[in-house]
Amino acid sequence: SGGLAGKETTVIGRLPQIQFADQKQEFNKRPTKIGRRSLSRSISQSSTDSYSSGTEAHKYTFVCSPVAASYTDSSDDETSPRDKQQKNSKGNSDFCIKNIKQADFGRREIEIAEQEMPALMALRKRAQGEKPLAGAKVVGCTHITAQTAVLMETLAALGAQCRWAACNIYSTQNEVAAALAEGGFSVFAWKGESEDDFWWCIDRCVNLEGWQPNMILDDGGDLTHWIYKKYPNMFKKIKGIVEESVTGVHRLYQLSKAGKLCVPAMNVNDSVTKQKFDNLYCCRESILDGLKRTTDVMFGGKQVVVCGYGEVGKGCCAALKAMGSIVYVTEIDPICALQACMDGFRLVKLSEVIRQVDIVITCTGNKNVVVRDYLDRMKNGCIVCNMGHSNTEIDVASLRTPELTWERVRSQVDHVIWPDGKRIVLLAEGRLLNLSCSTVPTFVLSITATTQALALIELYNAPEGRYKQDVYLLPKKMDEYVASLHLPTFDAHLTELTDEQAKYLGLNKNGPFKPNYYR
Ligand code: NAD
Repeated sequence: SGGLAGKETTVIGRLPQIQFADQKQEFNKRPTKIGRRSLSRSISQSSTDSYSSGTEAHKYTFVCSPVAASYTDSSDDETSPRDKQQKNSKGNSDFCIKNIKQADFGRREIEIAEQEMPALMALRKRAQGEKPLAGAKVVGCTHITAQTAVLMETLAALGAQCRWAACNIYSTQNEVAAALAEGGFSVFAWKGESEDDFWWCIDRCVNLEGWQPNMILDDGGDLTHWIYKKYPNMFKKIKGIVEESVTGVHRLYQLSKAGKLCVPAMNVNDSVTKQKFDNLYCCRESILDGLKRTTDVMFGGKQVVVCGYGEVGKGCCAALKAMGSIVYVTEIDPICALQACMDGFRLVKLSEVIRQVDIVITCTGNKNVVVRDYLDRMKNGCIVCNMGHSNTEIDVASLRTPELTWERVRSQVDHVIWPDGKRIVLLAEGRLLNLSCSTVPTFVLSITATTQALALIELYNAPEGRYKQDVYLLPKKMDEYVASLHLPTFDAHLTELTDEQAKYLGLNKNGPFKPNYYR
C-alpha cells in the first residue's frame, strides 16, 4: 500500500504551489454575524465513523437537544418524500428530498460552512483552469450536511457529476438537501428515513438508465455493499472507492483479504490529517458542547474521569482541564498512561475515583469499561457519557432492570433512579455524545473533506496499474498538502528548508517531510 508516496506523477506533483498570501486575504474574512450558527444544527456530520443504516444507524439516534432546535424539524408535513412530486426552479425532478422550498435557507447554511472550509474553496478557485474530475461520475453516500454540500459543490467545480444518498437515516439536514437539489444535484435523502427508504435512496443513486458511476465516495460501506450485492457489473467501470469511516475501511480490508475487492480503494480514515485532527481537535471542542447542551453543567472545579487517553481522550482532557475541571484518567496502555501523567493528569483505576467524580466520560473504543458495579457506586447526580465509536463502553443494558426507574428529562438525557433515590444522568443512552447531542467544528470537517476530494482526484487520474485491487493509505505528501491548504486561515508562515538543511536531513525541499509511518 501507499503506492503514491513521493511520486512526482501523483496529483500532488502536478498541483501548482499554493499561494498563501492570496488565500490569506480571502479566507481571513470571517463572517461577522455568526450568532445564528451557534444556535443552529443539532445534527452534525461525523467525519470520523459511519453509523450506517444497514448496520448501526438505529443505534445512533441523531435527535436534537432541546436547546439546539434543528431547522430540519420545522416542517409539519408528514408525507413521505417518496410520495411527493417535486421540481426545482429549472424543472428538474431527479431528486427526492423533504421540501424543495427550504432551498434558500439551506443555501445560507452552506455559505456559512464555506467560511470554515478554506481548502475546498481554494481547490475550487484553482479548478477554474483545470478540471481534474472532468468525466468523473461520483456516487456518494455520506452524512448530508452543509459541510458535505461544500464538498459536493467542490467536486462539481472540479468537473464531476454527483449523485448522493445519506449514510445515516437521521443526519440529513433537509434544508441543505433542498439547496443541493435546487442547485441541480441528484440528492436522495431526508431526515428520518426508514430502513427501506435508506436502501431505496441508495438504489436511486445508482440504478439509472444512461448513467453509471465511475467513482464511489462512501462513509460506512453501505453504498459499496449495495453495488456489490445488486450491481456487481458496475465495478467494470468504477475506477476506485474512497472510504472514510472505521467501519467501511474494515469492510474493505475484509473484501481485500478474501480476494473480492475488484477496484482500488483509498482508506481516508487512517490519514494523519484525519486521525490527528478529527479525533483530537473535534473532540476537544465538542465534548464541552455536548455536555453543556444536555446538562448545562458548570465545568470549573468538577471532578471528571476520562477513560482512555488516545486521541479522543486527549482532546476531552485538554478541554476540561482548560475549563478548570479536576481531571482523572484511566488507561491500560503504559505509554498513553505516561503521556497522561506528563500532561499533568492523575492516572487512576476507575474504582479509585468512581464514588467521588461528577462526570464519567469513556473514550476507549472498547466494551464494558463502565459496568453496573461502577454505576451502582456513583454518587447522586453523576453524569455518564461516551465519546467512543460504539455504544458498548457503558453497560447501558445492565441499567434496564426492574428496580431502576428511567426518567427522560430532555431529548437524549435520561435520569436513571435507584430505589434509594440516587440518580445518575445518562447522556445519549451511551452513544457518542458529540454526534448525538452537539455539532462538530466545520474546520475539522474541512480537513477530512479535502482529503476525500484529493483521494478521488488521485484515484480517478491514476494511470492504469498504479493502483491494484487493494486498500491504499494516502501518502504523507498528500496529508502535508491538505494541511498546507489550511494554514493560510491562521496567517501561518511555514519555514522553508534551505538546500543545506534539506541535504543534511536527506529530504526533498518540497516534502514529504516525514516517513509514511510517522503519526
Ligand atoms: P485510540 O486508540 O487512540 O485511544 C483509545 C485509548 O483507550 C487507547 O489508548 C487504549 O489503550 C485505551 N483503552 C482501551 N481500553 C481501555 C480500558 N478498558 N480502560 C482505559 N483505557 C482503555 O483511539 P481514539 O482515536 O482516541 O478513538 C477512541 C474512540 O473514539 C474510537 O472508538 C473512535 O472510533 C472514536 N472516535 C470518536 C470521535 C467522536 O467524534 N466522538 C472521533 C474520533 C474517534
